[in-house]
Amino acid sequence: MQPDNKLRQVPDGPHTLTVEITRDKRLRKSVRWTLKHDTIQIRAPMHITARELDRLTDDIIARVLKQRASTRKRNDGELERRARATNRRYFGGELRWHTIRWVSNMTTRLGSCTSGGTTDGDIRISDRIKPWPDYVIDYVIAHELAHRKYPNHSAAFWDYLAQYPHTERARGFIEGIAYADGSDPDSLI
Ligand SMILES: [Zn+2]
Repeated sequence: MQPDNKLRQVPDGPHTLTVEITRDKRLRKSVRWTLKHDTIQIRAPMHITARELDRLTDDIIARVLKQRASTRKRNDGELERRARATNRRYFGGELRWHTIRWVSNMTTRLGSCTSGGTTDGDIRISDRIKPWPDYVIDYVIAHELAHRKYPNHSAAFWDYLAQYPHTERARGFIEGIAYADGSDPDSLI
């Protein structure tokens, strides 16, 4: 790998993204990239032209900026609005909860919902999923909301949750994530 072919700095709100672009002899076909904190590392095969690489780099930066912008909008207010919209659209507005909020201390589970006791109806969503697509976020919300009616994973629970139309697709996404990090998808949610 040739070091430091190119370095770009891209402003991103209060942050700056650093883009490191290198050529990699071992790559045959396509450009590979990773994002760690504020650094995008792009590796490109030798045969891609500078112009093509510029275009691909612009696409990657645009994707990362878009994803980071959508992650930043995910605050507790937005979560509450999503929960209300989900309840109204798919569950006829019949579900009630106390609070719904993002938490940073849930390491394995994606979401949780308490039933009974003094914390009845507190829904917590792991901030690990903030970068995930909207339809998966809405699935996790719908899943925890549905536990307000069925505090278990009974057949009735799954029937009820299936009113959220992207359930199967979102479960596939979560299975893919679980597969990639070697965990049991059923232990996540
Ligand atoms: Zn569940």
